[in-house]
Amino acid sequence: MKKYPVTKPYFSQEEKDLISNALDSGWVAQGPNVTEFEKQTAYHEGINEGVATTSCTTALHLAMVTEGLSNGMDAIAPAFTFVATTNAIVATGATPILVDIHRDTFNIDTDKLNELIEKQYVQENGKLKNKNTGNTLWGIVPVHEFGLCCDIYKVNMLAEKYNLKVVEDAACALGAKIGETHQGAFGNISCVSFHPRKSITTGEGGMVFTDDAKLAKRMRELRTHGSTVSADARDKGKGFLLPEFNEAGFNYRMTDVQGAMGLAQVKKLDYIIEEKRKGANNYNRLIASKLPEFITPIEPKGYFHTYQSYVCMLNDDVLNLPDLQVGGDYRNILLQKLEDKGIATRQGTHAVHMLGYYKNKFGYKSEDYPNAYACDHLSITLPLYVGMTEDDQEYIVDTIRNTIDEM
Ligand SMILES: *Cc1c(COP(=O)(O)O)cnc(C)c1O
Repeated sequence: MKKYPVTKPYFSQEEKDLISNALDSGWVAQGPNVTEFEKQTAYHEGINEGVATTSCTTALHLAMVTEGLSNGMDAIAPAFTFVATTNAIVATGATPILVDIHRDTFNIDTDKLNELIEKQYVQENGKLKNKNTGNTLWGIVPVHEFGLCCDIYKVNMLAEKYNLKVVEDAACALGAKIGETHQGAFGNISCVSFHPRKSITTGEGGMVFTDDAKLAKRMRELRTHGSTVSADARDKGKGFLLPEFNEAGFNYRMTDVQGAMGLAQVKKLDYIIEEKRKGANNYNRLIASKLPEFITPIEPKGYFHTYQSYVCMLNDDVLNLPDLQVGGDYRNILLQKLEDKGIATRQGTHAVHMLGYYKNKFGYKSEDYPNAYACDHLSITLPLYVGMTEDDQEYIVDTIRNTIDEM
């Protein structure tokens, strides 16, 4: 039986060589490889500064803290995203406020975002206060889901109108563009992930991007326990002096072994994205001709999708599914049968309002965010990675065809 993982990283001899050099140098904590990896990755995205971290979750936390998010504040995030987006908000002491998404792009619905701000908040001393809790609205954490940018220009417009901060969760979206502008260059801080499920990997890892040198400096300090090298030590070369610690920071540093791996990976980024885009187009073509039960992912005009994940929706009309409960059960049975046949698939991501912590703490109902709920139940990620052939993809689509016919 042929076996297909949902994704797999793409390595060559270069990763091994660079990692080996790092080990031979004896310097394995954050060092020259991380610095070079930051430079090259930021350069790829057309941004001045990259600050490497241990994960995208810690990158988000670092960025939010730097932008002043703390308890007594609200941060708005889409209801359909990996739980790390809202967990990072919770880690700052702030309260996540959810907004629904579009079913076709899986990204934040900016009309609903505007409606939420107008309905839920009142102006008070130049700040937006939550009518129920009195919390101050800090800002928005939009997500570029699965490698497709959200309508970030609309988000930015609203942020400007209401004087809000924006930190972009671009965990899946390294290399994604609108026009010629990459994620990270939309005027806000953005955060990416180097988990093996993403386009390129350092095992675990993340990076914050900003064009603002001051913000980058502050994030580098907070990343290293909140340390600042005193002017005295810097000017007089007194290396024996410990730095000053005027803030309680974190240790979110990437190791130089990971930095070495990242350096090899970032060179492959354009190739990986091109291969995945070819694969996505091939799936689109195969599914259009063989699988009317599937709705393929869209790439709106002017957007450049990286297909970190290739996520379809079950077509509930074609399948005659009476409701989402039945639809979700049908989807899960289908995924189990595919797993049994050696094809690994996944639900796209989850509806945050249905996850235990959030559901219990905020008393959410499934219908509060109907599109997030629908995508939670009907989405399917198909295997996509460098090295898949057109025959592999045809075999996968044919196997799904046969499996549905048997159900
Ligand atoms: C993967 C992912 C994260 C978390 O990234 P880590 O590097 O694993 O911490 C956050 N947000 C989204 C949308 C993700 O897909």
